[in-house]
Amino acid sequence: MLYLALALVVLALFLLWQSGRTRRAAGLPGGRVIYTDTRAWGKPERPLYVPGLALTGKPDYLVEQNGKIIPVEVKSGRAPQQPYDSHIYQLASYCLLVEKSYGKRPPYGIIHYPDRDFAIDYTPELESALLDILAEMRRDERRENVERSHESRARCQGCGYRQDCEESLS
Ligand code: SF4
Repeated sequence: MLYLALALVVLALFLLWQSGRTRRAAGLPGGRVIYTDTRAWGKPERPLYVPGLALTGKPDYLVEQNGKIIPVEVKSGRAPQQPYDSHIYQLASYCLLVEKSYGKRPPYGIIHYPDRDFAIDYTPELESALLDILAEMRRDERRENVERSHESRARCQGCGYRQDCEESLS
């Protein structure tokens, strides 16, 4: 249960940050459709943690390929044409966690949808955009009031903070 909660921290923060913010398309790598052998995937035993960045998360799977460790994020919904930004940034955070935890930089990560797998290159540009987002999230966390940044009732209905949120639309 603790693992699940920790894994959800990264996801929740990204979804919250991402909601309504201007799309940061610049520097985001497109996804490459790939075939992967899921039999080689192993579940990580523990969450990964980078104290300096106060970042934690647990990829759904880690796969070893040619001495590299590749994180895999599993999504349940149908594959979009291209992975959503929030999925890419979540995967990028796992790439960062893998690099800091194992001392090996993953060249890419995998987003696994039921009907398609995408490889997302972990480029220096993606890493830099991720670090900007983490810094911005930390700034927002220190603020007492952060305005709602979207007009989506559905998003509020699915939000775990809805009961305590004065900005909720539902
Ligand atoms: S309930 Fe509040 S925190 Fe959750 S999505 Fe809506 S505005 Fe954002």
